Order: sequence, then C-alpha cells, then structure tokens
Amino acid sequence: MSVRVPGGVRVPPGARLLLATHNAHKVRELREILAPLLPGLDGEAVHGAADLGAPEPVEDGVTFAENALIKARALAAATGLPAVADDSGLCVDVLGGAPGVFSARWCGRHGDDRANLELLLAQLSDVPERHRGAHFACAAALVTPSGREVVEEGTMPGTLLTAPRGEGGFGYDPILLPDGEDRSAAELTPAEKNAISHRGKAFRALAPHIAQLLR
Ligand code: IMP
Repeated sequence: MSVRVPGGVRVPPGARLLLATHNAHKVRELREILAPLLPGLDGEAVHGAADLGAPEPVEDGVTFAENALIKARALAAATGLPAVADDSGLCVDVLGGAPGVFSARWCGRHGDDRANLELLLAQLSDVPERHRGAHFACAAALVTPSGREVVEEGTMPGTLLTAPRGEGGFGYDPILLPDGEDRSAAELTPAEKNAISHRGKAFRALAPHIAQLLR
C-alpha cells in the first residue's frame, strides 16, 4: 500500500524520512549509519528513492554539497516529506581532486564501477606509493518541504592501491587503503567502514538535525 502524490511518486504509509538515492548499497549504508543515531526511527520509516518511483534529477552541480542539495530538494518537493541525500566521490591528490563529482561516470558511462576503477588504476599506473594519496568525500543534505536546508561534510583519507582488493563495499572501495588500515575499504566489515567513512562522518553530523526535525 502506498499513497500516490502528484508527479507519480508512491510514498509508503508511515514513511517519515526519504533517502534521495537510487543506489541500493548507499540505502543500506545510510540505514545502518542512521539506525543507532535515531532510535525512534525504524527501517520502515526510511525509504530509498528507487522504492518510490521517484525520478532522478540532473546532478549538474560542481560540488558535492550542490549535488546533495539538488537531490534532496527534488525528493522533498515531489513528496512533501523531509528528504536526505548524499553526494560523494573519490578525490585523488595527483589529479587535483578528480574524479571528484565525476566519480560515478569517470569512464564515460554512469555507474559502471568496475570500468571507473580500472580507468583510474591505468591513469595512475606510473605513480609511486608516496604520491598515491586520495580521499573519499561526502556531503550529506537534509531538506524539508518548508525549505529548511542543512549540509554536513566528511572525508576518509587514504592511499590508492595498484590492484583491487576485497569483495565488500562498492565503487572505488577495493582500491582505497584508509589511513591507519592494512585492509582496503572493500575488506572492512560494513560496521568498520561506517565507523571511519566519509559518509558515516557526514551523516553522524547530520543526525542531530534529523532528530530535531522528527521529534
Ligand atoms: P554519487 O552517487 O553521485 O554520490 O556518486 C558517488 C560515486 O563515488 C560512486 O559511484 C562511487 O564511484 C564513488 N564513491 C562514493 N562513495 C564511495 C564509497 O564509500 N566507496 C567507494 N566508492 C564511493
């Protein structure tokens, strides 16, 4: 059962907070990060945009914060409920911060994680370890239908490996060795990754604002 609102978006009854992402990995990570911080908010009250049939807006911002706001604003406007979005990517020091906001489409196609990672490894094939610094960055945005907007940011610094390692996570996780770790981000358990990740940091900073709104 769901309530259809103008624009063809289906909002399930009981929904209190919407996640403006079509990426199932991200929905899982965000639920895991938010659950302990927002004890009154069960999984049934949090829905990803793909479950709702919500259209994906064009992400034409040039910063993570702009793109997170574009996604959260679009979903809040389409549903009349508070919406949370993140925009994130990998920033490589020797590439001047690229792929950055182009991380999901670095190979020329959107969302081909393997091709993105392989292209990046090929581009950096001659770069020695001491120059392979990089970080994941995330901006997390909360937008209410009444127009309140909050953005928080987080990073996860590390070093790029020369070959993928590990089966967990998604995107560029198999090639980032987070600082202080001897395992790639794809070899960490979900809880270990969330504890140090860019997304974990950004959403832990955003959680008090969400809690205040839903109180
Ligand atoms: P977004 O969905 O527009 O935020 O694009 C994010 C892209 O950045 C993803 O497609 C991944 O390629 C990369 N990315 C962001 N966060 C992570 C992460 O936690 N691990 C690995 N790759 C990530």
